[in-house]
Amino acid sequence: MTTANLLEFDLEGLAAFCEKLGEKRFRATQLFRWIHQRGASDFAQMTDLAKSLREKLATTARVEALPVVTQHESKDGTIKWLFDVGDGNAVEAVFIPEDDRGTLCVSSQAGCAVGCRFCSTGHQGFSRNLSTGEIVAQLWFAEHFLRKHLKRDERVISNVVMMGMGEPLQNYTALVPALRTMLDDNAYGLSRRRVTVSTSGVVPMIDRLGADCPVAMAVSLHAPNDALRDDLVPLNRKYPIAELLEACKRYLAHAPRDFITFEYCMLDGVNDQPEHARQLVELVRAHGVSCKFNLIPFNPFPASGLLRSPQPQVLAFAKALSEAGLVTTVRKTRGDDIDAACGQLAGDVKDRTRAAERMAQRRVSERTVVLHPVRKTTPQEH
Ligand code: SF4
Repeated sequence: MTTANLLEFDLEGLAAFCEKLGEKRFRATQLFRWIHQRGASDFAQMTDLAKSLREKLATTARVEALPVVTQHESKDGTIKWLFDVGDGNAVEAVFIPEDDRGTLCVSSQAGCAVGCRFCSTGHQGFSRNLSTGEIVAQLWFAEHFLRKHLKRDERVISNVVMMGMGEPLQNYTALVPALRTMLDDNAYGLSRRRVTVSTSGVVPMIDRLGADCPVAMAVSLHAPNDALRDDLVPLNRKYPIAELLEACKRYLAHAPRDFITFEYCMLDGVNDQPEHARQLVELVRAHGVSCKFNLIPFNPFPASGLLRSPQPQVLAFAKALSEAGLVTTVRKTRGDDIDAACGQLAGDVKDRTRAAERMAQRRVSERTVVLHPVRKTTPQEH
């Protein structure tokens, strides 16, 4: 008999499942807490549930984690896991500890269909969407592993960024219940400001997310004009920059933060020139989007044909944005010794699933040189 993996359900879904078993809603809340707050997977452990319910669960349900293929820990404390998602595909999640927070970068797809030029995941193509349970399982495993590993009783992961492998907004149906589980006080209880969805610019889904489950938003911009962005981020041909920025503005009406983070991967001689910085400033001013820029050192891989911008170029670019009044940070890479830095993550995936992770780290592990703006246009929480 097929059993249901309870990691697939947000609280509403679990309540519906319990109802089918003839159980009241509060039982679902108890079960949800056992699974997500206490990391339990054995129903027999859940001693405040009625014995009859535990027996029903034993025959109809399971709590099934993703098999861990590898785990690597960096000397800086970054930990990278490779999870098997079947059929030769694997995805990675990365934990990045910092003084004031613990961030988990989570994958949403095995591979990615967007095909950004600077992204190794994009170069490997798309395998499949992850299910809600496969997205949540990354957090479930990491949180409860880390509590034991670090000998902590309280929550370890304070921030989640959907910046791993895949375009989360192209897996919207699975994403939203996963986000709701992250936010739920009966599960991980993360603040909306501390859960970030990163998108390459799927405009209609930005609007839907704003209506359904607004969380912090990061947008992979990477270019200041359509000609260049069409080349670097092919989705731009469908949703050009002006449409994307207008969607960002609409999103801000719902967002828990009052700015959008624009991610900008610094590519030597491609998008890192003074004119590009000028164009970015004009663009943001023209559309009036409250924003922060995060400049990301590119981690080169051979198939890209691209090179990392030299550090002085990155700093000059950051200075130009900052002096124009835009809050700008430069990401510091983490976990280089375990290939967990942005752009280095590479799942052992059948044919094309690699990487996403780079995104993962690339945003998450940041931190940064903060250049104080002349005129501050956006707040900066962290
Ligand atoms: S950068 Fe993001 S959207 Fe682009 S190909 Fe890579 S994973 Fe996909």
